[in-house]
Amino acid sequence: MIAAYPGSFDPITNGHLDIIERSAQLYSEVLVLVAVNSTKNPAFSLEERVDMIERAVRGRNLHNVRVESFTVGLLVDYAERSGAQVIIKGLRAVSDFEYEFQMALLNRNLKPSVETIFLATAAEYSWLSSSVVKEIARLGGDIGGMVPLEVLKDVKSRFAGDWATAGAQLVERV
Ligand code: ADP
Repeated sequence: MIAAYPGSFDPITNGHLDIIERSAQLYSEVLVLVAVNSTKNPAFSLEERVDMIERAVRGRNLHNVRVESFTVGLLVDYAERSGAQVIIKGLRAVSDFEYEFQMALLNRNLKPSVETIFLATAAEYSWLSSSVVKEIARLGGDIGGMVPLEVLKDVKSRFAGDWATAGAQLVERV
């Protein structure tokens, strides 16, 4: 059975990777779908996000994982066209649940043949999100352990200028 795992992955975190690895054990194929529209102003382009996930996946020999960008139309239609019968969603906290539950019901209404399956986060990543990673990187904090090693440099260098500027502004104000 093929499972689709959609998200913005801006950038991929170890929380995402944990869900990908666990899904890859449950399903014959996992299709990671990188969505264009969920973040209005992404830090990484669609191509960069796909490339970073591919490198992280390759580093772990996950042979049944494919990464694609998903730019137009409904997720359920894209999933069905790709042969996926299942949509995977990761749940971190009750706050994720309300929105994801609504989306699951909506998607089932649109396409009853595609089921949404929820995987509970690994406890050590329950606080981790792409936004947290970006915020810490922007402020010059240590994001080692938050993102896969293969993409650590990309994320650090994307925000290196930001914290240097933030620091300079602070010095100016002092
Ligand atoms: P975010 O910016 O919040 O990381 P994404 O749209 O990239 O959001 O997330 C894609 C999917 O991965 C969603 O189903 C989300 O709930 C799940 N997810 C994100 N972070 C984690 C985590 N730390 N643990 C488990 N699931 C996660």
